[in-house]
Amino acid sequence: MARYTAAVCRLCRRSGEKLMLKGSKCINNCTLDKRSRPPGQQLSRGRRQRLSDRGLQLREKQKARYTYGILERQFRRLFAQAERQAGITGENLLVLMERRLDNVVYRLGFADSRSQARQLVQHGHIMLNGRKTDIPSCLVKEDDTISWKKESTQTEYYKQLAQTIESKSVLSWLSLDKENLVGQVISLPTPDDIEAKFAGKSIVEYYSR
Ligand code: SF4
Repeated sequence: MARYTAAVCRLCRRSGEKLMLKGSKCINNCTLDKRSRPPGQQLSRGRRQRLSDRGLQLREKQKARYTYGILERQFRRLFAQAERQAGITGENLLVLMERRLDNVVYRLGFADSRSQARQLVQHGHIMLNGRKTDIPSCLVKEDDTISWKKESTQTEYYKQLAQTIESKSVLSWLSLDKENLVGQVISLPTPDDIEAKFAGKSIVEYYSR
């Protein structure tokens, strides 16, 4: 399955929630405020359909996928990994998604959205523990460092970021050297560190059928 490339606002409308998929652009210019009806639902059809339990579970699963920009195949793999771990599967899944390199680049403030962070990684601008990596789905570990490729520090994007990074704050499981734009994973995230907009329990129920 190809990555979703159509207007991302449709995904929020489908979920019935602001998923902030366009970063800071979402703050003052959200189309959902004006148009909350799910895509494809005609005005003349009247009330929105009530979702079945299965439909609600599917919606929670899709919200998680859309938020982190994960393909169904990758998502299933992460879910299987979460199931193999000790503890609560829904929480394990949340932590695994949060540990993705593209998410960490976003959380460090290096990008305005997760999709932009994914591009930075795919285009080879980001180093993980001093090595270039272009795999957005790779999972960070405790003590990992995330930095910029030397050549990328000469780009206009990096120079602008260096001027604006001061005003950004990072989550408690990360640290950021704002002078050199080097981030570090102090500890692995816990579910409490992550403000999830979806219910892990429903995702587990969805895959348990
Ligand atoms: Fe979602 Fe952002 Fe579009 Fe609003 S502007 S619908 S939050 S992607």
